[in-house]
Amino acid sequence: MNPVAVIMKKRDGGTLTTDEISQFMGGFVRGEVPEYQMSALAMAIFFRGMDAAETAALVDVMLQSGATLQWPASLGTMVDKHSTGGIGDKTSLVIAPLLACCGLKVPMISGRGLGATGGTLDKLESIPGFRTNLNDKEIHTVVEKVGCVITGATADLVPADRKLYALRDVSGTVPSIPLICASIMSKKMAEGLNALVLDVKWGSGAFMRKQEDAKTLAQAMVATGQRMNVRTTALLTDMNQPHGRMAGNAVEVDESVATLQGKGPADLVELCFALTAELLISTGLEKTAAAAKKRLQGLIDSGAALEKFREMVAAQGGNLDAKRPIAPACEVTASRAGYIAAMNVEQLGFAIIELGGGRQKLGDKLDFSTGLEMLVRLGDKVDRGQPLVRVFAPPAKAETAKKMIAAAISISGQPVTPPPLIVERIIAS
Ligand code: URA
Repeated sequence: MNPVAVIMKKRDGGTLTTDEISQFMGGFVRGEVPEYQMSALAMAIFFRGMDAAETAALVDVMLQSGATLQWPASLGTMVDKHSTGGIGDKTSLVIAPLLACCGLKVPMISGRGLGATGGTLDKLESIPGFRTNLNDKEIHTVVEKVGCVITGATADLVPADRKLYALRDVSGTVPSIPLICASIMSKKMAEGLNALVLDVKWGSGAFMRKQEDAKTLAQAMVATGQRMNVRTTALLTDMNQPHGRMAGNAVEVDESVATLQGKGPADLVELCFALTAELLISTGLEKTAAAAKKRLQGLIDSGAALEKFREMVAAQGGNLDAKRPIAPACEVTASRAGYIAAMNVEQLGFAIIELGGGRQKLGDKLDFSTGLEMLVRLGDKVDRGQPLVRVFAPPAKAETAKKMIAAAISISGQPVTPPPLIVERIIAS
């Protein structure tokens, strides 16, 4: 295989064969195809796309690049939820314990913040002592003992994605439907699942800015799950405003705990329940979304879901009762009266990064105490001078972040109808 010929074929709009994809990616993982050629192919894929057969071949070769988690059938039904990424998206912290309370097993392999989006591992690490680098044996122990684990990928799980992702992140090739599909689905299929629900986001804080692109991505991922005999459904959801009120790290753990205590914001509860219900239905535990939601509410009301989260945190070395520091608060206020018309959610994510809540470069140490509390939602009527966002910021960084946040929120004189949180359910065709 000549890597240059493969790059040129895709550059010119050709369709790659399974053999070409397999040889190119195999060479990349072994270090024989250099990073500059891999970056060139990623850019060609970004512009030219891939058809279903090419995407399937890419998923397969990435999945086969490393080990997969293996579970004894006696352990039960293995499930997971995965989101394509957003701001204030703390659903994993609520959903994993809910699923475990229902008797399902959840080997959730999560990631760190990416671009402007927050990362589940970063949020969890704001809990003193919490470990996100469990090895294979520890993952198995926590899943068997508690029922759910949330941790980072082990070194031998899908190494092709780790290498390719690092390149995509610095070569402007993240928001590509086939590349995202292969990246997410190779990792999810490596978890050894029976069922999966995907939260595919569209909007100003998502990788997919257009609803129709998010739908195409969701369809590609659901088709991949189906091809691999993993019951997979997806919800197309809105990321034109953060989920819940909190965005950051420690503040999102606080809001997740409040949600598990039955005091969560309505949109976050709706999303968590809808995604969890998908899995209760696809595994046959419940017949309807209404019955599933009733069961989930019961688990919150009884305290069982919070107790399960506490158990998981303890099993991963964390102490949920230890103090999670929060930086001093200041406010961004409305420059005029009107209606909240739009939020540049990516820009809100960048403001959190500016505050040290996300990384500007690889290896940056995070300030978990920073973040935002959204005091308004799209469509809300506001008065001039009304607080819009509470900012948790070290004083030296507060002014810059406040300016970024103020610029990210548009106020209109006309009433505005906010987009629906859950747009569509995508199932296998
Ligand atoms: N999350 C992933 O794991 N991979 C992508 O490509 C995008 C989001």
